[in-house]
Amino acid sequence: MTRMQDQSYAGLRVLIVDHHPQARQWCLGLLGQLGVEEVEIAEDRAAAIEVLNTPGAQPLDLILAELHLPDGDGVDMLRELAEHGSRAAVILVTGVDPRIREAGEDLARARGLRVLGSLAKPLTVSGLGDLLSRHAFERPADTPSRRIAFSPDDLRRAVEGDELLIYFQPKVAVGTGAVSGVEALVRWLHPEYGILQPDTFIPAVADAGFIEPMTYVVLDKAMTQLNAWREDDLSLTISVNIPAECMDNLILPRLVEELIRVHRIPASALILEITESGISHDLANALDVLTRLRLNGVGVSIDDFGTGYATISRLAKLPFDELKLDRTLVTGAHETERLQTILRSTISLAQDLKIRTVAEGVETVTDWRMLETIGCDSAQGFYMAMPMPGDQVAGWMTHWAHHRTRVLSGAPILDV
Ligand code: C2E
Ligand code: MG
Ligand code: MG
Repeated sequence: MTRMQDQSYAGLRVLIVDHHPQARQWCLGLLGQLGVEEVEIAEDRAAAIEVLNTPGAQPLDLILAELHLPDGDGVDMLRELAEHGSRAAVILVTGVDPRIREAGEDLARARGLRVLGSLAKPLTVSGLGDLLSRHAFERPADTPSRRIAFSPDDLRRAVEGDELLIYFQPKVAVGTGAVSGVEALVRWLHPEYGILQPDTFIPAVADAGFIEPMTYVVLDKAMTQLNAWREDDLSLTISVNIPAECMDNLILPRLVEELIRVHRIPASALILEITESGISHDLANALDVLTRLRLNGVGVSIDDFGTGYATISRLAKLPFDELKLDRTLVTGAHETERLQTILRSTISLAQDLKIRTVAEGVETVTDWRMLETIGCDSAQGFYMAMPMPGDQVAGWMTHWAHHRTRVLSGAPILDV
């Protein structure tokens, strides 16, 4: 699947923030060569924020930001972009030391911005094109880039009125290429906007107080799909995301147990994914909930590991058996020494603690092969498969079975 090829950037709205007129001009030329037609220019932070605030303007898709603006305001700008709730992707551009560039990337991510990477000056068309194409702009018809305000009635209808869809993304063993399971990822089939991604509606669902019912709907639908696969002799595990709000509820293990009983699935086929924030709320409650789930045979995974401040040794007090390495540590790691060092030491500690490791965000065969070298157990990512409706999983598995032999043989792979 070469989803990045034939990429058209004509519809993107890009902002260049740079203090130097020649640098702005150079960047403008490169964007033109890449087919970007709509470019805004700002010479400093204040001008950039003004572009962001232009009434009635289309939202920006990409900001190419020089980190080294006068008075250190490249750093201030990242904070302000985050405060504005900017959903534009960010590429940091700078001439400074690569470690400062990486720190800038970390800072932007820590502020919740979507960072595509950083580039040293002078920019080249291949460098810029590479970053643009490796991280396709997820703004297909199904992802409105504008923030949508949902009414409580809308949200209630989504959860109770059967408008939620579950997509599944496979998880594959790195050593053998075998498909071990799938992660259930919720979408909302909105009557007006079409298929919405979870980050566009989950915060609103949580604010409206429907996050728990939504979680049970997802569990129920995922288990129904699991049984359909089992009838077709497909033996998979399903991973379901459990938000922090549910971890405060001591009823969770009982409800999960009840669903497992009703659907007659083995408890070992279910893995619940929780994030660090899900356990930092109330440690005693989290321990209570997790211990009961594990005693019942359900798997527990720590999701998005590497985005917070917890270390494995701190988390190791909790009864979980899988660690999902966040995609910010994984995507592009084959070319970033620092990320490889973090991955290597995390995986080695997880192995000592007998915890399985899953790398998220595997987008290239080179990242896959690097993970194999450092002993990661499983991988999930666009390189193998995008999330897909349940009835497409069997077809994808047949396709992957052919492809994986080429991946594992080390033959050059250009395409899935
Ligand atoms: P997550 O649990 O970490 O899920 C993985 C996300 O990474 C998915 O995004 C998936 O499409 C995306 N992804 C997978 N492979 C790649 C890759 O190679 N590159 C890149 N760039 N991204 C990749 P999605 O489906 O948009 O979900 C986003 C987040 O929304 C999930 O992150 C999870 O935290 C939340 N979410 C999804 N479904 C549910 C749900 O049913 N309940 C709750 N509470 N949260 C959910
Ligand atoms: Mg997850
Ligand atoms: Mg994750």
